[in-house]
Amino acid sequence: MGQISLNQVTKSFGDVQVIPPLDLEINEGEFVVFVGPSGCGKSTLLRLIAGLEDTTSGDISIDGKNATELPPSKRGLAMVFQSYALYPHMSVRKNIAFPMRMAGLDEATQKAKIEAAASALNLTDYLDRKPGQLSGGQRQRVAIGRAIVREPAAFLFDEPLSNLDAALRVGMRLEISELHEKLKTTMIYVTHDQVEAMTMADKIVVLQAGVIEQVGSPLELYHTPRNKFVAGFIGSPR
Ligand code: ADP
Ligand code: MG
Repeated sequence: MGQISLNQVTKSFGDVQVIPPLDLEINEGEFVVFVGPSGCGKSTLLRLIAGLEDTTSGDISIDGKNATELPPSKRGLAMVFQSYALYPHMSVRKNIAFPMRMAGLDEATQKAKIEAAASALNLTDYLDRKPGQLSGGQRQRVAIGRAIVREPAAFLFDEPLSNLDAALRVGMRLEISELHEKLKTTMIYVTHDQVEAMTMADKIVVLQAGVIEQVGSPLELYHTPRNKFVAGFIGSPR
């Protein structure tokens, strides 16, 4: 689960092509980071995978199935947004339960899944609080919890830590990495922060103006950047 292929995918907004033909393979269980400067197309690429934007041409397949025409809800992926989008009037428990209630899961199943998610995210003691009584990092974890209970094939994160202060960002970075260790679910993580990319990724995709400059492990990119852009952005000086 969680194998995603992009085949000659392009995206234009009006006359402007922001993603020229692009191929990408994401393997099951991988932690993939899209990194690049602001405006390079990271969010667009993630939204194409999520189905929140239609491709202009090309195909996206998820676990061997053509997903190009599928609506977001049928892709089996969970997008974690940077604005937490929690319901302020609902407890943490109810926030996490929300997608399961919508899906009509029975109470016992809901309860078991909430407890498992809370345990994985260290939220067990906070289940009866309202979002307003939580720190930014805790709210972020609730948003992730709400995604976990849907048991997605992959989690998609778009700069999830950019609203947090520097100290909290480091903690959340570790928590998301730990969560990946626990769940072993494919994660695609968008950031413009080289440190996040280098510390979290199995595989880094470096983007510039919608073009993949290089794909590789943090060590590969650091030691053998393919060009000056990658070297300047992420690699060792050469
Ligand atoms: P990033 O997430 O890397 O900062 P984006 O994917 O948001 O970059 O944007 C890539 C390019 O596409 C930018 O030039 C941006 O202005 C443009 N763009 C993104 N969304 C839209 C849209 N809905 N309409 C027109 N242009 C867009
Ligand atoms: Mg973006």
